[in-house]
Amino acid sequence: MKNLWDPKEASQFEENSLQMRVYSSRLLGNNSDLVLHGGGNTSVKFQELNLFGEEEEILYVKGSGCNLATIEKYSFTPLRLKTLRKLAEMENISDVEMVRQQQMAMTNPDAPSPSVEALLHAIIPFKWIDHTHADAVVTITNTPRGKELIQEIYGERLFIIPYVMPGFKLVRKVHEMARNVDWNQYEGMVLLNHGIFSFSESALESYTRMIDLVSLAEKYLGKNATFSSTFPQDSVHVETGAKTVAPDTVSGKAFFPEHPTLQTLARIRRKVSEIRGAAMLAQLNNGPEACGFANLPNVKEIATRGTITSDHLIRTKPGPAVLDPENLEKSLENFASGYKAYFERQTNGKQTCLDCAPRWGVWPGKGTVAFGRNITESRIVTDIVQHTVKAIQLAESIGGWNPVTEDHLFEGEYMELQQKKLSNNSLLPNENGSVEFEGKIALVSGAASGIGLACARELFEQGAVVVGLDLNPDISNILSEPGMLGIECDVTDQKAVSEAVAVTVRKFGGLDVLVLNAGTFPVGQTIEEMDEQTWSKSLAINLTAPQQLLQSCVPFLKEGIDPALIFMA
Ligand code: ZN
Repeated sequence: MKNLWDPKEASQFEENSLQMRVYSSRLLGNNSDLVLHGGGNTSVKFQELNLFGEEEEILYVKGSGCNLATIEKYSFTPLRLKTLRKLAEMENISDVEMVRQQQMAMTNPDAPSPSVEALLHAIIPFKWIDHTHADAVVTITNTPRGKELIQEIYGERLFIIPYVMPGFKLVRKVHEMARNVDWNQYEGMVLLNHGIFSFSESALESYTRMIDLVSLAEKYLGKNATFSSTFPQDSVHVETGAKTVAPDTVSGKAFFPEHPTLQTLARIRRKVSEIRGAAMLAQLNNGPEACGFANLPNVKEIATRGTITSDHLIRTKPGPAVLDPENLEKSLENFASGYKAYFERQTNGKQTCLDCAPRWGVWPGKGTVAFGRNITESRIVTDIVQHTVKAIQLAESIGGWNPVTEDHLFEGEYMELQQKKLSNNSLLPNENGSVEFEGKIALVSGAASGIGLACARELFEQGAVVVGLDLNPDISNILSEPGMLGIECDVTDQKAVSEAVAVTVRKFGGLDVLVLNAGTFPVGQTIEEMDEQTWSKSLAINLTAPQQLLQSCVPFLKEGIDPALIFMA
């Protein structure tokens, strides 16, 4: 793991601890092997004058749900340290009460709600604290000999804490274990099955410790662990740079699934949406690592044991649906009934069961599929799954993938605070919250201007993901937001059209709405004046092209959710 600290850049923040905190937090946040999408947290402590001129010791900690990669000064919440330390002395309070008390300890009511791990930062007696869910470290701890391996790798350098769900109980556990401990003997702390902390009186040292500690775990895995990667079946290798082929942000690879696979993907998506009771996107990852995982003979058994860290539970549920290519519908129904049974086994009667739809699937021979109500959700799941499939295999090769038990998984998934975080986080595609088309996939021809562009924009505003086709090469810039895709395409070129439809399904999982809008409007001519060329061109664009586009789309629309066709005549 590379140390990205730039002494020259960092030197400008020397006088401003909060700026420095932003700087090194971003260094951590930009490494997906350390944290993913809102995971991890950092803090800094210093004295501040309040309105009355009194000095107070303040903890600035990352706000709940903020992303370390893009964090700003105002994403850190200032809290009175004295209050927090008193709170940590309490015998037992609920997590909801803890969060309420933390909010009352804020010195700026406009700051975001503080991280659920704020109290942990308060009781660790160092100015700078960095916390990540580093893949390598959690992978090693998710094995039967996790604790021993950590001791072997780190000796006495780390304070080791057994698994306790994040929240007040974890704070108490650390607090009690630390009673007779001199924190100065440690460079960091490992929370088994959860993550790692580093700390120091210097920002540089705390960051460097994190990188060095995680590097040791990576080195250990590099020497002792393996994982498999293979190429997908039934895929065509397409030369990158082909005109209608948009860069593949999911797998980063140029292996494109063929038509029957795409049609099956659309069927999978429809079934998952049915179970969820709402339209969902389905993003296939058929990169070598996802395929290597999906092709393991024991994939069903190992994939469903649990997550890397409890932070991922609200995104991915405890495990994926393992798809049976012979009986897709049944395997998805089995997932739903299995999830329901897990809830019934674990609930204390006070929780409400979440929907039973999977958030990801393992598709033997093809790769992994991420499901989400919108592009933000499905991308987060895609990223988490990419890290998960690797971690599972690495752990299997060093003794066995052994995440926390089912009761801990349930506790993490149904924790009141996590549920709250999820609802705060869900990015609605527009401000007034009208999301009638959320999860829907639309294709609009002639989308670079006029009616086509207006349709594309409106569907997008209403929550759909939208692919626009146009002759105008600028279409890729005109429709460039996440959840939109502009493809340069001549709708009279049947091959280009069918490729564009394939790209749409590969990227989002299906097709629900087709707006046939591309057309020409020739200058007015009488029948006897009209030349052959004008007549043929008009027929080609206004009649044959929509027929061809329909031909490519109908097989997918048949698998769509409330499919709709809109003709501009
Ligand atoms: Zn954590």
